[in-house]
Amino acid sequence: MNRVRAAAPQLAGLVPYDPKYLPAEAFLSANENPRDVDGELRELIGRRIAKVPLNRYPDPLAGGLRDMIAEANGLDRDHVLIGNGGDELLFNLALAWGGPGRTCLNFPPTFSVYAANARLTNTAVVDIARTEDFSIDEEAAFERLAVGDIDYVIVASPNNPTGLRCPQAFIERLLDATDALVMVDEAYFEFSRQTARPLLATHENLVILRTFSKAFSLAGVRLGYILANPAVIREFVKVRQPYSVDAVSQAVGEVVFEHRARFEPGIREIIEERGRVAEALRATPGIVPFPSDSNWILLRMEDAGEAWEYLYEHGVLVRDFSATPLLEGCLRVTMGTPEQNDRFISLLRAFVAERGSRRAQAARD
Ligand code: PMP
Repeated sequence: MNRVRAAAPQLAGLVPYDPKYLPAEAFLSANENPRDVDGELRELIGRRIAKVPLNRYPDPLAGGLRDMIAEANGLDRDHVLIGNGGDELLFNLALAWGGPGRTCLNFPPTFSVYAANARLTNTAVVDIARTEDFSIDEEAAFERLAVGDIDYVIVASPNNPTGLRCPQAFIERLLDATDALVMVDEAYFEFSRQTARPLLATHENLVILRTFSKAFSLAGVRLGYILANPAVIREFVKVRQPYSVDAVSQAVGEVVFEHRARFEPGIREIIEERGRVAEALRATPGIVPFPSDSNWILLRMEDAGEAWEYLYEHGVLVRDFSATPLLEGCLRVTMGTPEQNDRFISLLRAFVAERGSRRAQAARD
């Protein structure tokens, strides 16, 4: 067989993104909504999809959905762009503002896709590690920005996987301190109830990312969007694939967005569960939960890898971050239904108790 020459050098040694999705009874690993779109809404979606012409290319910029999102945010359509999930728009950011000779500022531990996209596009990454409590080292960030070579910055608010939103005052100071494009990733803003949206009026260098995958139960459909000033949107339009948002997804998104108020009780339930689960974790010896403004809780414990195995053997899949730098001993659990959360708590407590008795036994032996 003839040989193939090597792929682009930036791919050497690169490990593809792995969501670590395994079969389980309770999926508490991917920050999805535990409740699927309800039956009535599915019916409406089905009827709308039945009318979608499948032989025609979709509207490239998803005009219908774009207008609905613009109106809901008090903006014109030229301030909005729809993408094939937030992930596509994150990649577009690296294509449009990154590239060889360009640099992004990143605040790990954070969503790993940011650094991966930089690497794929030959963008240099400057990491400023978060402090012990996972807040951004603000002074280090301003000092680094003052050098003047940063082309874009990504701040997740709330930050995945650590959980807390970013103080609004910092975002404002950041936007004032630089002309770099600042992306505020608000994938989980429906659970934190805080948005940088008011700052769009005064800052051309702000872009806000949101998704339908979390609060709106549409992770399977792939819809995300950005809000930004028209000059920024125009650059994103240049790098996107023309038909990345298919006609069926556009139709689903329109129905769901029109009926978005229906998701409010589910969002409230998740926020309440977050409080209840955090309290149960705090009351469990050896478990340290971190505060969260999102739909998951990060926790630290001894033997986190073993705990992950134990949970998984008993049907509960959570995300193991214990091998990630700065997240040693950490697991992330997405808020499920109250029943799933109860199951998670009782399994984790059983693990801690079994380990305790194993240790006591070992001490006696
Ligand atoms: N940003 C953050 C912080 C996320 O956690 C995710 C999903 N894991 C995304 C963006 C992208 O989500 P999606 O592509 O499903 O819209």
